[in-house]
Amino acid sequence: MPAVKKLRSKSTPDNPWRERLPYFEGKQDALAQTIREWVAVESPSDHKAAADRMGGVLAQQFEQLGGRVRIHPADEFGNHVQIDFAGRDDARPVLLLGHFDTVYPLGTLAAMPCRVNDGRMYGPGVLDMKSGVALMWYAIEALRAWHGDLPRPVTVFLVSDEEVGSSSSRNITEALARKSAGVLVLEPAAGARGAVKTARKGVGDYTLTVTGVAAHAGLDPGKGHSAILEIARQIAAISKLNDLRQGVSVNPGVIRGGTRTNVVAAEATVEIDVRIQKASQAAGLDRKLHALRPFDKRCQLSLEGGVNRMPMERTAGVAALYKLAKTIALRIDWKIEEAAVGGGSDGNFTANLGIPTLDGLGGVGQGAHAAHEHIVISELPRRALLLAAMMESI
Ligand SMILES: [Zn+2]
Repeated sequence: MPAVKKLRSKSTPDNPWRERLPYFEGKQDALAQTIREWVAVESPSDHKAAADRMGGVLAQQFEQLGGRVRIHPADEFGNHVQIDFAGRDDARPVLLLGHFDTVYPLGTLAAMPCRVNDGRMYGPGVLDMKSGVALMWYAIEALRAWHGDLPRPVTVFLVSDEEVGSSSSRNITEALARKSAGVLVLEPAAGARGAVKTARKGVGDYTLTVTGVAAHAGLDPGKGHSAILEIARQIAAISKLNDLRQGVSVNPGVIRGGTRTNVVAAEATVEIDVRIQKASQAAGLDRKLHALRPFDKRCQLSLEGGVNRMPMERTAGVAALYKLAKTIALRIDWKIEEAAVGGGSDGNFTANLGIPTLDGLGGVGQGAHAAHEHIVISELPRRALLLAAMMESI
């Protein structure tokens, strides 16, 4: 495609990005309104009916842009929504990847209503990532307004289970990525300066279960073998597997165990989140976790789980997309930065297939998954412009 070359010339009709920024500035209020409407439709990952409502709204709205909707049914989660847009040429499609599930339980909106204050919009999922999905909609709308149709085919894929590991959407994401020239992930940007994400850590989950021996805490205290005591010692051992300098972190984040205070606990579990910087670290960490042995020989350990998302490494394809983004941003005097982050996304899957992937193209804000989650509204226009330009230029 000559488009990349075109971008190197001055900002002229050949390179209309500066001239096109006002288009999105004029859409800023509408964009904010769309985000507000979508935040108002709560869509937790674990509530199929609610997630399906959100998926239905999105399918309908993207269909209005001339896309062909395909629903991928999911039993446990909301149905995933794919929208295909034909392009003027038959280039390979660009895949826009996003999710419409949030981490907030149904009813959160009552205590955490969507509100605007000081140029920021607050609300559950506003940053992660309903603003990102709205950017997709407005970027496609703009390309159609400018060209009459899309300059190239575009596939939008919106999943409902990203926040819980993407078990039911992963295969579809990967199949669509394999057919695409590049993948643009509309997850939130990194930090207040809105960096795009060119590397992400790999993520895994393990569950360690200890089976001990129950006993009456008063009558037979010496006969019990406490699963709780054992798991406490295991947690201390597990925390030693942290190697932050190498980018490996291990967090025993949830523990459960015991039944009553007067019973020596027969069972306890710990759920462990692991992060790795390089794919090659997965096997070593897995081996160390499986090498854990009980301190109390009468207790038994069993370990389940593994690394679910391998790291998104900064491959040549990732670097090339970042370079393209940087070139486009410079046209509007914007020095866009890149960042490596600890969180995983579906971009990890696509990058691992060797498909050029750029992540963190979505909203700019703070507090993803937290009570103060918000976006900065004035950042939306240039990010919509960047997305539209990327779709046209890859
Ligand atoms: Zn997200």
